[in-house]
Amino acid sequence: MSQEIRKIEELARTIRRDIVEMVYLAKDGHPGPALSITDIVASLYGSLLRVNPSDPEWEGRDRFILSKGHACPAVYSALARRGFFSPELLPSLRALDSLLQGHPVMKKTPGIDMTSGSLGNGLSIGVGMALASGYTKKNFDVFVIMGDGELQEGIVWEGALSAFKYKLGRLIVFVDHNGWQSGASCNDVGGCVSVKSRFEAFGWHCQEIDGHDISAILQAVKNARAETNLPSVIIAETVKGKGVPFMENDNSWHKRVPSKEQYEEAMKILGGC
Ligand SMILES: [Mg+2]
Repeated sequence: MSQEIRKIEELARTIRRDIVEMVYLAKDGHPGPALSITDIVASLYGSLLRVNPSDPEWEGRDRFILSKGHACPAVYSALARRGFFSPELLPSLRALDSLLQGHPVMKKTPGIDMTSGSLGNGLSIGVGMALASGYTKKNFDVFVIMGDGELQEGIVWEGALSAFKYKLGRLIVFVDHNGWQSGASCNDVGGCVSVKSRFEAFGWHCQEIDGHDISAILQAVKNARAETNLPSVIIAETVKGKGVPFMENDNSWHKRVPSKEQYEEAMKILGGC
């Protein structure tokens, strides 16, 4: 295993500990969806994204949009561990006037490129950013993480059509395919049409990977970056609550606070104490 992958895996363990601790201390939040995307977020901030923590608004930076904004504890942890702000701020999640609100706010938190939380918008906003990348000749890449539940929103497919029309090869979308949304399974709510076939029908470059396999994530982004004429979707098969066995695939952890005993158990499993 390469040193890079070991480094990202260690970052992912740190992010998972931070998520559980933030939600426990805030007495509010979404641990399941945040743990689901942790390995993707760790790969982005631990390796893939060209960003500068000392100049968060550098115009040439790669952009990142967390379309499923409720999973933001994962991103707040990654930003802190990358040096955008002090990890000492993490326990202030969801506090009044904190930099770290319950959903991302771009004018409040260093390193957050887009306000989100109203589901379905991230892909279309990414289309606008990817167009700007070309018009300004800054040539940055635009990454979006979406939930599988929010694929039910119509604006996703308006954006998908535009991305193909404008040949947005710099747009790379991860679908966090954990099979769940807040109230039920995605299949029960929105039907069973495969995600891959939907994006293929819109002309996108499609890959399916294990969303918890760091080397697969890195390779998929390398492939997506090599595809310069088509927008890319990376359909990441994930487990909601990944890393904390009693949260895995239990949708009650979509938004739920661990008890003191559950917090201590989770931290022990994650190597925190
Ligand atoms: Mg989901």
